[in-house]
Order: sequence, then structure tokens, then C-alpha cells
Amino acid sequence: MKRRRTIYEGKAKILYEGPEPGTLIQYFKDDTTAFDAMKKATIEGKGVLNNRISEYLMTQLNAIGVPTHFVRRLNMREQLIKEVEIIPLEVVVRNVAAGSLSKRLGIEEGTPLPRSIIEYYYKSDKLHDPWVSEEHITAFGWASPQDLDDIVNLTIRINDFLSGLFLGVGIKLIDFKLEFGRLWENEFMRVVLADEISPDSCRLWDFQTNEKLDKDRFRRDLGGVAEAYSEVARRLGILPESINPSSGGPVLVK
Ligand code: UDP
Repeated sequence: MKRRRTIYEGKAKILYEGPEPGTLIQYFKDDTTAFDAMKKATIEGKGVLNNRISEYLMTQLNAIGVPTHFVRRLNMREQLIKEVEIIPLEVVVRNVAAGSLSKRLGIEEGTPLPRSIIEYYYKSDKLHDPWVSEEHITAFGWASPQDLDDIVNLTIRINDFLSGLFLGVGIKLIDFKLEFGRLWENEFMRVVLADEISPDSCRLWDFQTNEKLDKDRFRRDLGGVAEAYSEVARRLGILPESINPSSGGPVLVK
């Protein structure tokens, strides 16, 4: 069997060389980590669910004209993506106070924010992804002012679209993290959405009960992690048959 070259192995995903130049294969693992990788576990089926959920969300975003690295899903755990030059930032969008914002600023979790807030973290395991401002980003050249302008415009569109999409299936989009990359097409460069969008990178709360349907179930030892991710996939209408063998086709709700 031909062994593929590993380009990069992260905590939850592996990037392999793609079938043609300019492409990569993104493989979703079942491994999960939190608190700077101090807490680790394997959650059976998580990779399959995240591959499917991220495929769905990226496809919908592509359809409204948000450029992404996603090309197509290849199988249960892999998707074909365009190779991009990753901008070393984690772009966090918040609609409701939670997590590190609540802790840092003493705002109770669940408090709606007066407006959506965008934060930047510099991607560096060694430095534990420190919080940075636009000043740091442009001064140190991690992104140009034009890149940042594109990032903000795309991020606002993505937040509006995903907030509505999740609301439609009874889920509140509390906050989430995005990553962007530069895609070169001849001498032209475009900033595109990269990485993944899944319950690993979003806070998703049930609209009625505020039940957590995301990685906080793992971070806070709430149990039912895979079940929560499945519930998100089920509500989006994309639950793979193999994860829930009992599921038939769509059910008519009267
Ligand atoms: N997030 C992420 N990767 C990270 C840090 C945060 O995907 O390395 C996501 C996280 O799931 C949440 C949002 O970004 O949806 C905001 O996270 P926060 O700053 O509150 O940090 P946390 O509480 O996760 O430490």
C-alpha cells in the first residue's frame, strides 16, 4: 500500500499530501484535547462527525460566496482541501459571553453581548496562543492591514450566516473560532476560510434549554460528547447512517 506523506499532524487532525499539487487531504481524528493539551481523550466517532459537519458548513458558506479551502469530502474521515498559507491567527467571534471572556472580564456566562465581538489569538503552542490586538498583528507582519480587512469582512458574514443557520435548527451560536489562509492563484492572492468549523471549535447551546452541544461537554466533564455532536449533525440533517444505523430517510413532521 502506498504510504502518503504527512505534511502536518495536529491534536485533532492530520494533513497529508494531496493527489495533485496545490491540494492536501485533511484527516479528522477521534482525539480531543483541552486546556493546552493537558487534558486528552479519544471520543469514538468524533472525527467522522466533525468531517461531515465541517463539510456541510463549508459547503453552505461556499454557496453564499465565502471562499474556503474546502473542495470535497473523500470518505468518512477525510476531505480534499486546497493548500493555503495559513495566517497564524485564531479569530474568535463572540455573540454571548462564555469561556475565557467570562473568566477574564467577569461577565456571567450566557449574557448576550451588546454587539458581536472579534478577538485575535496568535497561533503559537510555545506561547499558549496569546491574545493579541490588530496593532500586534500588523506590526509583526502576521497579516497585512488588507488581509485583516478581508478577515473582518469574511468573519462578520460567516457569523451572520452561521447564527441564522443554527437558529433555524434550534441552536444558539455562542462563540466560535476561525482560521484563514492565503490562496495564490497565479499572482493573485485571496484570503480564504481554512481549518474546520465543528462542535470542537464552536460553542453551541440548545435554544430552549441552553444544553451544551459542543466541546465544553469534554472540557467540563459533562459526558455525552459524541451524543451532543451527533445531535448537532442530526439537527443539520446530515447524520451519517453508520453513526446512527437506525436512522432511515427524512421524516415528515406534521
Ligand atoms: N476555540 C478553539 N480553539 C482554541 C481556543 C478556542 O476552537 O484553541 C474556540 C472555543 O471552542 C470557543 C471559542 O473559540 O468556541 C472561544 O474560546 P475561549 O476563548 O472562550 O476559550 P476556552 O474557553 O475554549 O479556553
